[in-house]
Amino acid sequence: MKAAFLTGIREMEIRDAPDPRIAAPDDVLVRIDAVGVCGSDVHYYTTGRIGSQKVEYPWTVGHECAGTVVEVGGGVSDLAAGQRVAIDPLSTCGRCDQCLSGRPHTCRNQAFLACPGQLPGALAEYIVMPAQCCFPVPENMNNDEVTIVEPLSIGLYAQSLAPENPPKRAAILGVGPIGLSVLLCLRAAGSEEIFVTDLLGERLETATAMGADWTGRHGPQDVVSEMLARAESGLDCVFECAGQQETLDQCVQLLRPGGTMLAVGIPEIERVSFNPDIMRRKEIRLQNVRRQNGCVQGAIDLISSGQADVMPMVTHHFDLAGSREAFEMVADYRDGVIKAIVNVSGG
Ligand SMILES: [Zn+2]
Ligand SMILES: [Zn+2]
Repeated sequence: MKAAFLTGIREMEIRDAPDPRIAAPDDVLVRIDAVGVCGSDVHYYTTGRIGSQKVEYPWTVGHECAGTVVEVGGGVSDLAAGQRVAIDPLSTCGRCDQCLSGRPHTCRNQAFLACPGQLPGALAEYIVMPAQCCFPVPENMNNDEVTIVEPLSIGLYAQSLAPENPPKRAAILGVGPIGLSVLLCLRAAGSEEIFVTDLLGERLETATAMGADWTGRHGPQDVVSEMLARAESGLDCVFECAGQQETLDQCVQLLRPGGTMLAVGIPEIERVSFNPDIMRRKEIRLQNVRRQNGCVQGAIDLISSGQADVMPMVTHHFDLAGSREAFEMVADYRDGVIKAIVNVSGG
């Protein structure tokens, strides 16, 4: 089969790779139809690592995928060839303390698609995944929507971690695909007022189209004062989706006493800081968000029912041979790209 391999910093090649085979009774062989390019993939592409996870070349990336079942192992009874599926990229052990206490997303023996040394990525014609990672999707969902199930499940999980649900007044700082996913989930859940900020004007336009009540451009605007002028008593929840020290500080300023900041963005720096005086006086809660837990089916339902229209965030398409171009575009935020999707098989 063909697959797109990272071969060095900002280097990617289409190469032949051995066809993956069913090895365990619960394995499913999936033809990959489409893959969304995620910020984490691009991070491996431009820097060769995320924190301590370092790529050993050649390596395949891609974990937001839409596929079609080709073959199932002997122990799989609820999936059959031809079934279109969304893939949960996390494979878990089912036996550790975390799995047994309902926290498979922090499984101690986990393997995630495209994480260096774990599972090979999905920018390939075929992958093998355990049946529990394959979620059937209804016919009314197109491949773009199926690839967005993964980021939307993260948005849904982040929303579910807000202590009062839905939060009445919330802000989302940073509206790449994950921030926009949080926005769709808050909107669907019935939040009354949703504030959004970003550095990029076109992302704010997309956020408005997807239901933001107020948007502000970080930089030219004093977004914190403007938001607090509209919400004097402060916000219930702030979803930090940019991973920057400045936006973390803004969360503390924006929250009402007793409010919650949800740290969704992945900071590139090793340490961040908070003002303990304001954090303590306001008794602010800090909730970290690790990917998602049990929200894949909910994300499928939100899209297929029409409650969440994810299509405005899909801005560009490529074929497998154009994977490198897709990564370059996302890496440089070119041409207003938000979500670039690589159509791998079948077009
Ligand atoms: Zn992703
Ligand atoms: Zn486990």
